[in-house]
Amino acid sequence: MQVHEVFDAMTHPNAQATAQVNRQAQDAMRSLPALRTQLAALGANPKHTSTWLRAWLHGRLDATLAPHWGAHELPARMRQALPALHAAMAEVARVHSAHASGESAARLLVALSDGQSIEAVLLPKLNLCVSTQLGCAVGCVFCKTGEGGLQRQLSSVEIVAQVALARQRREVRKVVFMGMGEPAHNLHAVLEAVDVLALEGGIGHKNLVISTVGDLRLLDALQTRASQPGAIKPALAVSLHTASDGQRATLLPRAPPVALRTLVERSDAYAVRTGHPVQYQWTLMAGVNDSAQALDDAAVLLQGRFGILNLIAYNTIEGQAFTRPSTEHAAWLVARLAQRGIKASVRDSAAQTVDGGCGQLRARTLASVPVMFRRLPPPSTPTCAS
Ligand code: SF4
Repeated sequence: MQVHEVFDAMTHPNAQATAQVNRQAQDAMRSLPALRTQLAALGANPKHTSTWLRAWLHGRLDATLAPHWGAHELPARMRQALPALHAAMAEVARVHSAHASGESAARLLVALSDGQSIEAVLLPKLNLCVSTQLGCAVGCVFCKTGEGGLQRQLSSVEIVAQVALARQRREVRKVVFMGMGEPAHNLHAVLEAVDVLALEGGIGHKNLVISTVGDLRLLDALQTRASQPGAIKPALAVSLHTASDGQRATLLPRAPPVALRTLVERSDAYAVRTGHPVQYQWTLMAGVNDSAQALDDAAVLLQGRFGILNLIAYNTIEGQAFTRPSTEHAAWLVARLAQRGIKASVRDSAAQTVDGGCGQLRARTLASVPVMFRRLPPPSTPTCAS
């Protein structure tokens, strides 16, 4: 059955709008190119497709918000199919429950069409953290998501649907790919999502932030984009957590065995090329990576780099051996970094209580004020973000 026949069947009053038909429609929407093909089969030209995608990505396709398009905006056949199309989209991803934390943070439990669920986290400053995989293969020892391994990839539609759902609730200006999963392990879908969010979702390049534990395939893909005029060039976040290669192999056991210095150099090259500082992430765990020496080593590693160091206090997870350092200790580290020419600050995060799978660790990064390091670089070296 062709895509348009599926929707004909769904929209015709006497048709068999069965579960099988629904499933076929959903299957056809499991990637953004397939979704575009489907819209074309309903008579949409590129302008119509853009009109519909923009409405979807801005959260205006739920039952109460759906626009009333006229003949000049969408073809008749597509308008006729909209109720069925939107019903099928609602099955691809829907908010199962929302858990607020303060006024500007909330965790959304998003149910997928196969009965699985993922998390998206609304963060302060109109940020949104999205998941890119169901589970994760990296297995960071401090991460709940990593405990269960990878279950499946998310499609590009499922990734951007998290933005559409979040925007049904509030404005979203920045999307960080830091939730469940390692984005580099689902790179094709993630880059499809980045492109459509930039081109149709109204989100600027630097406000699309892809995180990685250090997969060079992602850095290769981004460097290629950096040299392509007109390509979407997202910002990059790199999970460091330590400046020691040996300790990193312990904390992130299945992360690529890339030397930290190489990782930072490669990341820095992309940052300099694009003008988007790298967001280096460091989850502070008491007695593990929160010593003066650990942060001194980080200062050396990142000296003169074009980036931002986000220090995030570990959020205690039941059953895990790690603990969160005290606020006083974190403040002391910040002062020590400042003494070494690295400007740093710490603040309380409104999203600290938002538990979000691995997002628990990573989503909170964007909820906390970035700790900027502004060590003066050598004269010819690009400086850090100000
Ligand atoms: S912290 Fe991120 S990369 Fe590490 S296991 Fe969790 S989801 Fe995967």
